[in-house]
Amino acid sequence: MTSGPTPAMRQYYSVKARYPDAILFFQMGDFYETFGEDAGVVARELDIVLTSRGRDKNGDRMPLAGVPLHAADGYIARLVNKGYRVVICDQVEDPKTAKGVVKRDVTRVVTPGTLIDSSMLGSAGAQYLMAVAPDRKDTFGLAFLDVSTGEFFISSGSGGRDYADLVSEVVRYRPTEAIIPESLQGGLPGRLETLGVTVSRYRDDAFDPDAAYARLCEQFGTTTLEGYGCEGLTAPVAAAGAALRYAQETQQSSLPHISGIASRIPTGNMVLDAITLRNLEITTSIRGSGDGNTLLSVLDTTETSMGSRTMRSFLISPLIGKTAIDERLDAVEHFFDHALERQELRSILGDFSDIERIAGRIAYGNAGPRDLATLKESLECIPDVKSLFSDDAPLLVREALDAMSDHAGVIDLVGRAIVDDPPALAKSGGMIREGFNRKLDELRHLATTGKNWIAEFQQQERERTGIKSLKVGYNRVFGYYIEVTKPNLHLVPPEYERRQTLANAERYTIPDLREKEAMIATAEERLAALEAELYTELVRTLAAHVPDLQATARAVGLLDVYAALGEVAARYGYSRPVIEESGRIIIRDGRHPVVERHLPVPFVPNDTELDAAGDQIMIITGANMAGKSTYMRAVALCCIMAQMGSFVPARHATIGIVDRVFTRVGAFDDLASGQSTFMVEMLELANILNNATPQSLVVLDEIGRGTSTLDGCSIARAVVEFLHGKAVAGSRTLFATHFHDLIDLEGSLARVKNFHFAVKDTGSDVVFLRKIIPGATDRSYGVHVARLAGIPKKVTDRAMKLLKEASGREFSGGPRAPRYTQMLLVDPGEGVVEENPAVRELATLNPNDMTPIEALNTLCRLQKLA
Ligand code: ADP
Repeated sequence: MTSGPTPAMRQYYSVKARYPDAILFFQMGDFYETFGEDAGVVARELDIVLTSRGRDKNGDRMPLAGVPLHAADGYIARLVNKGYRVVICDQVEDPKTAKGVVKRDVTRVVTPGTLIDSSMLGSAGAQYLMAVAPDRKDTFGLAFLDVSTGEFFISSGSGGRDYADLVSEVVRYRPTEAIIPESLQGGLPGRLETLGVTVSRYRDDAFDPDAAYARLCEQFGTTTLEGYGCEGLTAPVAAAGAALRYAQETQQSSLPHISGIASRIPTGNMVLDAITLRNLEITTSIRGSGDGNTLLSVLDTTETSMGSRTMRSFLISPLIGKTAIDERLDAVEHFFDHALERQELRSILGDFSDIERIAGRIAYGNAGPRDLATLKESLECIPDVKSLFSDDAPLLVREALDAMSDHAGVIDLVGRAIVDDPPALAKSGGMIREGFNRKLDELRHLATTGKNWIAEFQQQERERTGIKSLKVGYNRVFGYYIEVTKPNLHLVPPEYERRQTLANAERYTIPDLREKEAMIATAEERLAALEAELYTELVRTLAAHVPDLQATARAVGLLDVYAALGEVAARYGYSRPVIEESGRIIIRDGRHPVVERHLPVPFVPNDTELDAAGDQIMIITGANMAGKSTYMRAVALCCIMAQMGSFVPARHATIGIVDRVFTRVGAFDDLASGQSTFMVEMLELANILNNATPQSLVVLDEIGRGTSTLDGCSIARAVVEFLHGKAVAGSRTLFATHFHDLIDLEGSLARVKNFHFAVKDTGSDVVFLRKIIPGATDRSYGVHVARLAGIPKKVTDRAMKLLKEASGREFSGGPRAPRYTQMLLVDPGEGVVEENPAVRELATLNPNDMTPIEALNTLCRLQKLA
């Protein structure tokens, strides 16, 4: 007889049909089970045992893999972090009271972009879901949503140049998941996947601009999006509507904490594209040496998670308005000047929990009791924070303080409702404080008296029977029992009824005990139910305060960042930059903020003077390892720091506002993309030449290395000429090069100036002084550097020899031959080169006095000497 699937499996198949692309976690008692192909994936990815049970629709054995309910979060997080979507189908009625098969329903869809449980979220960083809606003209509207905090904003990016703009936004915000319309054609999904983003196709109608607009208005309780600066931004709004709908669908909730949206269409901020963020190691380091070598790691001394997120967002999009930058600098300077206030604030903030995320979980209904207790503790510190400041605090500090309410209602409610030191999860029970609800207190009393009665009963029975080891215990199957060990069985009174036999003991019961057991059980059951109900109600009441809590969280984040920047400035000796609307960059004794932190020796500071209409382009030569790229990056970082509102690592800095920083750094190969190094270099260069404005800062490190020297040098020269242009002002440019010919440009182009890095030559050794000085150098110390690096002496000696021959040819009179030597070689003479004994002897010989045999013998001997 072939039996069809069981009722539970029929239920399974019908849910699975609705989510064919996701892994279905199907609750069966204390386990989430996965079946079929899902089970294969789960077993493989989570390294758990694959078993089989029953038969599938075709009569084959059905693969099965399960994880225990209590540990499910960890397993789900691991799957989702690997890019899978997980559908959670829970039992939604009590199996004890269910008639027929237990009812089950999908309670959540967990996707990489919509993780919310604290146990699944990794770091404090934001976790964005991105939505992409195509526009008519090859541009894309973008929306970013952090479901855990409710942060929501739109942006945009063009699809040109292999999605370069769009990719910049992706690198900036690092979404974990992107949703795109089902019908979207083209290479975008593939491009996103190479960036490590999980791509999910989502129904087209969710991206309908009108429906999206209406959905957003409904969510925010407004009739228009004008107030959010989103009016008329059709594609970004379409993306935002889709993101919201997707989040609501996966979370099975209306997500009330998502209460507004911001526009971050890249215009009002300094543009840092993906390449520049990477090259300057702003938030991630190039060589994968962890994140300890980034500018963010140096600056992020914030005390709270809110502060840490705010710091990151300041850093990746610095400002370009003078007033706005100066306001931030005022706030930072305040904390720089007032060390005590800064320390006190930071020590208070140190105890702050992530109230932004807790607010998100409250809105969701899944905040745990410990969340509420820590929220209350944090909120109680607000008056302490406010009392630190007087009325003359700078504008942004006052604004932040004003945005923080005292939250008396929340503090009072949580204080009355939740016990001290509550459990993390509501289902553990025991979190509601005595006195909060009379009924609950009564049930508790009943349950406790029952338990006391049991304890007394045990004592009384021990005395009555004379069995000292008699124990009253409890298990789920038999309820309460009296346990007597084998040696004492002869003392058991006749009224004891046997329940269970163990290896060394017997278990009994009596009517009295059974009666009490029933009473305790009902009291406990009702207690648990009532407590859960009260708790849910409490969280629902708190949800009304979520917008206020979010405002406070943002304000805390801002204060934290101002104080942290003040702290860093004081700790590392930074100074307040002067911000100008000019084309100048003047830096005195500037340092590289990250390199100086990791050097065993003092960092050598350097000056910079750039002016779009004056010394616009610096051509920088110098040996390998002289410090060229460190210098150039330090200048760029100084501008970025100044415009994010930070003090800068320099004795003095005047920064004429930079609209965009471009970098092209030679040493880094984009191996992953499969393009040739030279092609990548040219693509990046094209981007710079097409987009740089007279307000931009351009950093070029060794353009043209990926091709022949002649090619490369010609390209480099043409690039400088182009950037110099004919206009009166051009992009401020730092150009490090090995092509020595470029130094001629100083004479022919008015705004080009040569610089080089000084070295001290001790005769046998070369010392890098790390000082940039005007003028070019035609000396290089490549061979010395090679020796320092441990290249075998045989090789460096041979290189010296070749060099001598080459430079002998070059310097032997006549018109100067083109010197595309890449300066890897060393200038002869001046005792730098140790003279070869063969050469010395050669000089003393007179071939005219020798017989042919003598000449041949001498030649053989010399060869051995050389
Ligand atoms: P280049 O670009 O000329 O090859 P780098 O800028 O990469 O040289 O510098 C090489 C190393 O020299 C750096 O890793 C750093 O350790 C050190 N260095 C560079 N600039 C300085 C400085 N101003 N003070 C001290 N050390 C420096």
